[in-house]
Amino acid sequence: MAELTLENVTKRFDDDGDEILAVDDVSIDIADGEFLVLVGPSGCGKSTSLRMIAGLETISEGTISIGAEIVNEQPAQQRDIAMVFQSYALYPHMTVRENMRFGLEESTDLDDAEMDSRVEETATLLEIDELLDRKPGELSGGQQQRVALGRAIVRDPAVFLMDEPLSNLDAKLRSGMRMELQRLQDELDVTTVYVTHDQTEAMTMGDRIAILNDGRLQQVATPLECYHRPTNLFVAGFIGEPSMNFFDVTRDGDRLIGAGFEYPISASIRDELDDRDELVLGIRPEDIEIVEASETDHDFPVHVDVVEPMGNENNLLVGFDAEANDETFTVTVEGMRRIDEGEQYVARVPESAIHLFDRETGSAIHNRKIEAEAELLESRL
Ligand code: ATP
Repeated sequence: MAELTLENVTKRFDDDGDEILAVDDVSIDIADGEFLVLVGPSGCGKSTSLRMIAGLETISEGTISIGAEIVNEQPAQQRDIAMVFQSYALYPHMTVRENMRFGLEESTDLDDAEMDSRVEETATLLEIDELLDRKPGELSGGQQQRVALGRAIVRDPAVFLMDEPLSNLDAKLRSGMRMELQRLQDELDVTTVYVTHDQTEAMTMGDRIAILNDGRLQQVATPLECYHRPTNLFVAGFIGEPSMNFFDVTRDGDRLIGAGFEYPISASIRDELDDRDELVLGIRPEDIEIVEASETDHDFPVHVDVVEPMGNENNLLVGFDAEANDETFTVTVEGMRRIDEGEQYVARVPESAIHLFDRETGSAIHNRKIEAEAELLESRL
């Protein structure tokens, strides 16, 4: 076990003379035993970061340390790291037992009996002990992924690196394995970096999430902190499903003027804005209420275009009634609530739940108020 530190890590690729900046000045301190999820859209530099930690890719600038040791120049085999990939990469001609033992034979000098007992212990932990004498071709996808995990766990490394390990599994298996991986992490307490583009995996699995976009680190924080206190528009839009709604607004005194709506703001929010006027107002779909009649100055007449029933909730696509605005936005209401397509309702956008961003830089200026204790957001659940 060890802490893992990335300090100003940059990776440039040369593409026929054109420079590609795949990872741009990324610094993250990952605590001993922490489960850090590296998340972001395709091409944002997740795999490249992981491969630099593993020693499979050189580092253009910056340092990577495992424990107190800088490992930049250390070959992959010498780093005390085990990787699990999306493709299980099991040897088809070997049994499960042999596949799991193989890594141990390569990386340790344990004697035969010790290797056997480690393989069996790990197989029991992963509930694949019944499968030890089968070949990979005789296993389901989920079982093969457990074997791939077992092969990494059996080596007892200082750091686990996982690159989209669940993306080949179907949705149900994936959610089961998500929980399984969290249980394993609690039990093994090994520092883990887990790469995914799936924000649900990031929210549910990470002690903390590191969000990358275009090679640049956007935010590193607990899942709830990223959700409720995003540092910028990118994080606000990336974390949360359905996504946060955004409206371009211009401030005029203590009102935000949008296309076809005006939103009054209190003195405390106005003070936070200083002299910034060109803003983006953000509100999460679940924070908007649908009410029958307009009662406050944060209520807006809307028409419901589409009702998408999800069972536990309904996602509504709604539009302002104002003529000057044909924008639509999403509202989530509970699943048993009856809302009719094509009907008029009133959307209430509570001031306590709004986020405001600087339109030019994308930085968050004001995040929603949170009723939960602040410690809840900062705790690693
Ligand atoms: P995905 O989720 O699609 O796997 P990713 O976030 O893991 O994406 P990377 O694979 O790290 O992204 O790629 C980051 C950027 O670096 C991309 O623009 C990619 O095209 C580029 N890149 C990656 N490997 C190389 C390479 N060997 N040569 C040139 N460019 C590369």
